[in-house]
Amino acid sequence: MNAPTRLKKIVIFTGYKCNNKCVFCIDSRKRDFPEKTTSEIVRELYKAKKEKADIVEIIGGESTIRRDFACVVRTAKKLGINEVLTSTNGRIFSDIRFARQIVEAGIDGIIFSIHGHNCEVHDRLTRVPGSFSELVKGIENLRKLGFKNINGNTTVVKSNMRYLPEIGRLYIKYGIKNVEFIFVDPTYGGAHDCFENLVPKISECALYMRKVLNVGDRNGFPRWKVRYVPLCYFHRHLSHISDINERVLFFTQHWAPDFKNTDAVISRQMVSRRKTPRCFGCRLFNICEGIWTEYLKHYGDGELKAIK
Ligand code: SF4
Repeated sequence: MNAPTRLKKIVIFTGYKCNNKCVFCIDSRKRDFPEKTTSEIVRELYKAKKEKADIVEIIGGESTIRRDFACVVRTAKKLGINEVLTSTNGRIFSDIRFARQIVEAGIDGIIFSIHGHNCEVHDRLTRVPGSFSELVKGIENLRKLGFKNINGNTTVVKSNMRYLPEIGRLYIKYGIKNVEFIFVDPTYGGAHDCFENLVPKISECALYMRKVLNVGDRNGFPRWKVRYVPLCYFHRHLSHISDINERVLFFTQHWAPDFKNTDAVISRQMVSRRKTPRCFGCRLFNICEGIWTEYLKHYGDGELKAIK
């Protein structure tokens, strides 16, 4: 059987400004970096179309707080980009006027970042009181408008890992079928700078990540996935690994104000993640990306265990 043709996905970063201040944010040191102008973004959309992008994801920082956001989405759709997505902290959608504007502009899918099942857990991580209520209102507004393609992602850190099953139940409540539970990236930014406070041991954290996948499976949400994890802790959940899925289905590029990455998967494997001598002989070696290099500097590789 032939391998499926990979879809070309171009992630356009509009800049790094954000109305949240998430403690683990990978862009925490880039907030003052100048935003792209509208014409720069429109030029990139033309380029993406010319390069036959199937999917364009528009992200920040928080790109929805830009005044030109709806216009950018409309332009992408007018150019004929098949799927236009955004990842968001979701707060803008609490105002139904903005939610309607963005939906009417033609957005195809919206990925909400939900880091807690209540305001206590979520707002402590975003450092903005009220951010959880606004996000929930945003989801409800979109549902009211009949917008269906709502997805989710949750960054997993020390303070929210125990609540993953509850966070899963929140996704179930809103019928969110595509969710990624992301093991926090400590390569740069907040999680790099506050590693000890934020980054859990994988051996502990994987327990809760597996639990939430099981909650999804039991409730008819089999497409939930985990991302950036060593596979020795998920060898019975291989159909739930985002990284594998991504390699098979997508060819991903990142176009940011300060860098351009023409193959996001390869660059992650080359730069940020590692396998170690403990992986030798592991039957998952060829499909596993290992663990964050930065993680190894702090915790070592003693938790990795080759699967025979
Ligand atoms: S032992 Fe290494 S290669 Fe094997 S699953 Fe774990 S991290 Fe991946």
